[in-house]
Amino acid sequence: MKIASRLVTWQRLHGRHGLPWQGTRDPYRVWLSEIMLQQTQVAAVLDYYQRFLSKFPTVKALAQAPASEVMVQWAGLGYYARARNLHACAKQVMDKWNGKFPPDAASLATLPGIGPSTAAAIAAFCYGERAAILDGNVKRVLARLFAIEGDPTTRAIELQLWERTREQVPTARACAQDPALMSAYTQGLMDLGATLCTRSRPKCEACPLKKDCLAKQQNRSDELPWPRARKALPERNTMMLIVHQPGYILLDQRPTTGIWGGLWSLPEYEVTIEPTLIYQNLGLPIDKTAVLASFLHVFTHFRLTIEPHLVSVARARTPKINSALKSLPSAQWVALAQLQQRALPAPVHKLLTGLITAGLIH
Ligand code: SF4
Repeated sequence: MKIASRLVTWQRLHGRHGLPWQGTRDPYRVWLSEIMLQQTQVAAVLDYYQRFLSKFPTVKALAQAPASEVMVQWAGLGYYARARNLHACAKQVMDKWNGKFPPDAASLATLPGIGPSTAAAIAAFCYGERAAILDGNVKRVLARLFAIEGDPTTRAIELQLWERTREQVPTARACAQDPALMSAYTQGLMDLGATLCTRSRPKCEACPLKKDCLAKQQNRSDELPWPRARKALPERNTMMLIVHQPGYILLDQRPTTGIWGGLWSLPEYEVTIEPTLIYQNLGLPIDKTAVLASFLHVFTHFRLTIEPHLVSVARARTPKINSALKSLPSAQWVALAQLQQRALPAPVHKLLTGLITAGLIH
């Protein structure tokens, strides 16, 4: 089975056109979109992409920006390792590649945060290279087309899928005749997975590949690909302190590695510790405290129940790094008016915005 020509014809007529990262061969723009789109829907990326580009219009601007500024622009998109790798990658492009992205997929894949599929997408879009992609959507399309059973996240199935995607790449001869072929083909695979061959209820009747698709023929598109064998996610609990005084809130910077690495969050404590001891240990003149309703935040590998404690402090201290906070050396008093300039994890941002709107912190 060869799908390229039908897929390309379909993409040119019915695929997605006019997304802000299309119609360019600038590797910086394509790379940025590919990283943002990993595990994130197009609709969520649109605003971030435009804002990020206006802040960092070139790879040089991004490489020279402070890490905190990059995190501020990324805050809310999630999977923060992507932002750290993005910054590291921009620096490597400046230092090792003279400010130009490497000219082929194999070299692109040596850069931080660029896996083989992302490298292939950039090379296909920007250089017309005959490189095969295999992102989550493409895995689903191929597993259905070829009725491949098994969990696609396992190494054995992934290898089969890589083999299939490489077989389908348009021929060198076809690419020589149509320089935009690889770009349309790659976009076609992505578009098919995003718009027709969707996770649930694929629109097979509109699909350009329906005559060849084994899942369609066998009426198995609902059961393929096999779902990932999921283990129950571990549960964790944490206590977060919202320590505030008029106009200011105490934020604590997370270590650069791990969950929410480098972001500004709320001071966290084990829920097993007696809260009054924690309050006392702050060494601040506390007016009142309140335990707010707990809420759940789900990460890919665990579920976190957050127990927020509101700690109201009388304005008695200089709102700078406070020498009394020996237990929180990485904490700072941040003016509420300047909260937007700090990169906050999405649930913390939501919590604080809700409290400000409700007038509980002001
Ligand atoms: S026919 Fe249906 S299941 Fe097969 S590739 Fe097309 S949309 Fe997917």
